[in-house]
Amino acid sequence: MTNPTNDPSRRSFVEVAPDSHFPIQNLPYGVCRPRAGGSARCCTAIGDRIVDLAALESLGLLPDISEQPVFSVSSLNAFAALGRTAWSAVRRAVSDLLDVDNSVLRDNAEWQQQVFSEQSAVDMLLPMEVGDYTDFYSSKEHATNVGIMFRGVDNALQPNWLHLPVGYHGRASSVVVSGHPIRRPSGQKMPPDADTPVFGPSQAMDFELEMGFYIGPGTEVGQAVAADTAEDRIFGMSLVNDWSARDIQRWEYVPLGPFLGKNFATSVAPWIVSLEALEPFRCDGPEQSPAPLSYLGGNARHAFDVQLEVALTTAQMPARHVLSRSNFRYLYWSMTQQLAHHTCNGCNVNPGDLLASGTISGSTADSLGSMLELAWKGERPVALPSGESRKMLQDGDTVIMSGFAQGDGYRIGFGEVTGEITSA
Ligand code: MN
Repeated sequence: MTNPTNDPSRRSFVEVAPDSHFPIQNLPYGVCRPRAGGSARCCTAIGDRIVDLAALESLGLLPDISEQPVFSVSSLNAFAALGRTAWSAVRRAVSDLLDVDNSVLRDNAEWQQQVFSEQSAVDMLLPMEVGDYTDFYSSKEHATNVGIMFRGVDNALQPNWLHLPVGYHGRASSVVVSGHPIRRPSGQKMPPDADTPVFGPSQAMDFELEMGFYIGPGTEVGQAVAADTAEDRIFGMSLVNDWSARDIQRWEYVPLGPFLGKNFATSVAPWIVSLEALEPFRCDGPEQSPAPLSYLGGNARHAFDVQLEVALTTAQMPARHVLSRSNFRYLYWSMTQQLAHHTCNGCNVNPGDLLASGTISGSTADSLGSMLELAWKGERPVALPSGESRKMLQDGDTVIMSGFAQGDGYRIGFGEVTGEITSA
């Protein structure tokens, strides 16, 4: 039986433009605070409007999923921890309440006053309290490109890459929500042809186009998550920009991997899209050869067709210029394989943990997910319509990432994750 919340013909009494990221089929989760004052609360979106889940909860319009209120709080962690049955029940209830044929909210002006606000009337906050953040390296195209640049074409992919989803432990404390300015980091670097390192502002600020997923129900230390049940622990997906200072990274990364070149900031979009909303866009990942060890499961039917875009504005170029278009489905390693691998040794995960994909590059020159690749280490500067060019990001540059899954007459959008580079 098809899920009625995913029915393409379902319409809301709230008007939604065909290119809106937030039709009734989406219902992403976020946390907002009214600009006019008031506390942070959980919300969803329909068209241009915010739907206050705390208000729906206190009006008694949501199913009984917990003894305690879970939406009149400043993060989605408690709700995420409840698991799939609770997520589905709330999604179904909200979808029904917003349905054009349902009079409960549609015909109650007083309740609407409490429940709806314009997107412009709220500030979107970090949706989750992120306790731990892991970044993978799951695009074969990206790993190959970086490998060619750093080690040459013969050693591009390390011997482990086709056998396990390579990752590193990032820094949760510096995960920031979209719109947060990104101050150019300073650090230690070894300039080309120099004998001794120097300390100073990074001259190689880069973005990485990624998507991440948040953990719902956590695990105990010692417990491995089986690949075939891993999706039960995925609360939803979000856009991620893994800011990278390439000069700091290049000097520090041997032998333990990324450190200060990455952990100064990671930006996330305010919206988390459920796998239930993405179900119609489920597809196969790329063919995996050699076949992964059995604990990793496969990537068939574990990818999602999500179109991604990176755009840039500069101080001299206020109109957005698209740098790249990619797709989540290009990733070699699936989210279920990442989670199965992350926990196979008994490493536990907690509600709100963020696991990001790694840079999502495609196989063509216009689908690369970082400036490092687009400008090929600075050898092919990217020309902008303003007459400027870029090898790396400059102060005043704003990177805007967005993405959506295109349905028949509607799109399941992820909103945007943006960040402006400010001076050191
Ligand atoms: Mn990354």
